[in-house]
Amino acid sequence: MKDTTHVTQFSDLGLAKPLLKALAEKGYKEPTPIQAQAIPVVLQGKDLLGIAQTGTGKTAAFALPILQRLAEDRKPAPRRGFRCLVLSPTRELATQIAENFKAYAVHMGLSVHTIYGGVKYGPQMKALAGGIDVLVATPGRLMDHMAEKSAIVSGTEIFVLDEADQMLDLGFVVPIRKIAAQLTKNRQNLFFSATMPSEIGKLAGELLKDPVQVSVAPQATTVERIDQRVLFIEAQRKRPLLAELFADSSFSRTIVFTRTKRGADRVAKYLNAAGVEAASIHGDKTQGQRERALAAFKAGEMRALVATDIAARGIDVNDVSHVINYELPNVPEAYVHRIGRTARKGKDGIAISFCSDDERSLLKDIQKATRQTIPSFDRRNDKQLAAAAAVADKLVPAEKYVDPRKADPRNNVPSELRRKRNRKPGGGAGRAEGGQKSGQGRGQGRDQARGQAPKGAAPRNEFRGPKRAEAASEKRWSPID
Ligand code: AMP
Repeated sequence: MKDTTHVTQFSDLGLAKPLLKALAEKGYKEPTPIQAQAIPVVLQGKDLLGIAQTGTGKTAAFALPILQRLAEDRKPAPRRGFRCLVLSPTRELATQIAENFKAYAVHMGLSVHTIYGGVKYGPQMKALAGGIDVLVATPGRLMDHMAEKSAIVSGTEIFVLDEADQMLDLGFVVPIRKIAAQLTKNRQNLFFSATMPSEIGKLAGELLKDPVQVSVAPQATTVERIDQRVLFIEAQRKRPLLAELFADSSFSRTIVFTRTKRGADRVAKYLNAAGVEAASIHGDKTQGQRERALAAFKAGEMRALVATDIAARGIDVNDVSHVINYELPNVPEAYVHRIGRTARKGKDGIAISFCSDDERSLLKDIQKATRQTIPSFDRRNDKQLAAAAAVADKLVPAEKYVDPRKADPRNNVPSELRRKRNRKPGGGAGRAEGGQKSGQGRGQGRDQARGQAPKGAAPRNEFRGPKRAEAASEKRWSPID
């Protein structure tokens, strides 16, 4: 096999001209390490086991050689079938993978389609009918099409399983086994996972034939460029602290992670009520809602995206300034995926984890799995967080705390944090979430919140009052508007 240790050019990897042209148009100058390792292996038709996270360039690592193999042996795709099947755990990731395939295939005339749930069957059936070169699908909807005989998988020549560990978390292992059982034995298999827990190793053993293993990060090792900190804080102070952090304009594009879907909704509502444009994405949102929220976040129209692990998996948004673990994940590997949303494409990033007393054992698990001690925030060295924490402490004294599960989150926003919403007649701050929830934000809860909110210029004065003296004196601390 070709020595790829010192490869600096895509052309050294044996890629054909139409692909090199597309890569040049995309502005990719050189292959990433996973691409340098994986492309020659896949071009040779071998099975591959890739251990790599999103953000490493792994999509191109499989998409480029797959397209080349399909183009080298051009033939019509089987009717109601596909020559290459890529399984993805989420719709968002499926869309992204397909977008990548399409961009690389632009000079090749190969067809690429997606199939996932939450949208109509009709157009998918129509696309499948004539056969597809590359199909990117989520397992559930593909199984539905297989049951309806609108998809026939037996003619698949190349089978890709992406984010296998996430598939496991989502309970997709049984559908995957069922789909794989209907594939021809004479196929090429590519298997990608960020981590390799034993059950995933077992699945890989079943699906792959004598695979070449390539790895770009040791198991569960966190991305080095990310500045990680943990902040010990009582659960009831998390929300005001979070809202307060956004007073710093450097929190320009922040993903906030919660453990539950309802938690994501509550936090997004709270942020909106505090004047920070935010929306939540999770599995209960419709495809349209998820797409709108993601588009607004990508376009910089919204500073915060509040997400559950599943929804955020694979999201490829550039320039994510901060990741905030509002709640620590139950599974240590999820921590690695979460913080990997920032520091993409060689940039630096900041990950802040809020840890309440009952989460200390989760933190211990994360530190064990990632073989690191996450530095805890130090009031002396980190003035920005210190100021926010001080404000949060003042805003929500323990005795005033209202259990968020028992109250409308918007009513629980301290008046100091309502300032920006009140200064925006027309409710600009609520747009993102309001857009998602078709008028829900205009309901009773908001009216109550409005009723309690101070009127006129008071909020600005409160905001700049003595409570914020420490913060206001800090240079890095710049109120958003
Ligand atoms: P992935 O890990 O596949 O999600 O890729 C992460 C990001 O890196 C995506 O935005 C890709 O478009 C981009 N990317 C992939 N390969 C390269 C490359 N060789 N040079 C520059 N950017 C790349």
